[in-house]
Amino acid sequence: MANLPQVVPNGVDGILPEVQDSQQPEVSSTIKVLPSNFYDSFLSTEAKERKPSPIRGLFPLEKTPGVISLLAGKPNTATFPFASLQFTTGHPSDPAQQVTLKVDDAVLAEGLQYAATDGITPFVAWLYGLQERQHGRKKGEGWRISVTSGSQDAIYKAVHALVNHEDPVLVEKPVYAGVIPIFESLHCEMVEVETDAQGIDAQSLRSILESWPSSKLKPKVLYTVPYGCNPTGMTAALDRRLEVIELSRQHDFIILEDDPYYYLYFGSAPRIPSYFTLEAQTGVAGRVLRFDSFSKILSAGIRIGFVTGPDKILAAIDSHTASANLQASSFTQSVVVTLLDAWGYDGFLAHTHTVSQFYRSKRDVFEAALRRHLDGLAEWVSPEAGMFFWFKLLLNDDTSVEGDSAHLIQTKAYENGVLALPGTVFLPNGASTAYVRASFSLLEEDEVNEALRRLRVVILKERGQ
Ligand code: PMP
Repeated sequence: MANLPQVVPNGVDGILPEVQDSQQPEVSSTIKVLPSNFYDSFLSTEAKERKPSPIRGLFPLEKTPGVISLLAGKPNTATFPFASLQFTTGHPSDPAQQVTLKVDDAVLAEGLQYAATDGITPFVAWLYGLQERQHGRKKGEGWRISVTSGSQDAIYKAVHALVNHEDPVLVEKPVYAGVIPIFESLHCEMVEVETDAQGIDAQSLRSILESWPSSKLKPKVLYTVPYGCNPTGMTAALDRRLEVIELSRQHDFIILEDDPYYYLYFGSAPRIPSYFTLEAQTGVAGRVLRFDSFSKILSAGIRIGFVTGPDKILAAIDSHTASANLQASSFTQSVVVTLLDAWGYDGFLAHTHTVSQFYRSKRDVFEAALRRHLDGLAEWVSPEAGMFFWFKLLLNDDTSVEGDSAHLIQTKAYENGVLALPGTVFLPNGASTAYVRASFSLLEEDEVNEALRRLRVVILKERGQ
């Protein structure tokens, strides 16, 4: 398909990342999977009431040999003004080496037409291979994939598939601000679970669950961002993940593993397996719903993510998609699969390695500037994935009083020419905090230094120095 330079197998020429590939979990042979009726008590009323689309459900039958379909109101692709499509990209290990890729005509035809709700055939097939390879879970063992318009789309639909109005839900404290309105619009009680430099605090989770009033409905879901968390930048440690899985079994909840920064891991220790991997390695699988995104590794504007998890929950998500937006853009999928097919899995991992190393150097630049300008004025833990620093402003000398970064960041810092997010934005129950979230993805070294120099001036003034 492509004139792409040959990608040499991992490690052979020293170009491709060894860490990522050597950490691939074994693909399971057979694992114990929760039965389909297990999810009956988990699905929301909305999901149970939504009927499958009578037309989309029949789409696969159109491929039956010998069948003439009078089914769908599909426009005729012959009338579409896109005869062919090609684009230029860089070699995954050497972006400066440019190649031109052409979208295969049959793939383009599929991409220009209405397609299956879960995604176009070659793309979904590629994603199954990726998940098997990265997470060691074999296709056909109780899980499925659906392509969505970014992972946000999948998270929104998953929450609606599982959570009823006014249900309690478990969220990390602080939590990705993008899920707060989803839970708020359902009037959920967001029960905040403490986190620290090791990620979610399993002890805090345990004590919340063990002291849960027996008369009160228990939370059905826990939402967590395990790699390079947004906003804290922290990555959940292995023992924490294992404890969370154990708690999910003891207290009967589903783990929503939102992992858009998985491929942006740049730590030196081996990669920690995903919840999706770990649940299968440690017992019965079926309590993890995993969200992946191409936003941080291919492009945010292509709006492509995918959700991986139990068939029954995925069917509910697909039903939602079929009534809300029919499908994620098949055109975009056709472009993405052309690139991914040309790269192959090793090439893809080489690319994500390059991207993660890019963010590692951005992290280093930001941290050096933090040390230079905010030494003694802020505290932080260095992130090993993602694109965020979460730092605590030391607004006075009394360390027993945390203080509140909101006014300083929203007003004074802005007036002094620097924009950041006060930590309170990530606390759904409105608590104040001295923490601030700063993104290090875009800025050059001189801009980082200038931003933190300006912040220093504002903090010193606040401290009366
Ligand atoms: N989850 C988290 C934790 C995020 O940080 C983001 C992007 N800000 C998303 C989900 C949404 O990503 P996408 O572009 O794939 O919808």
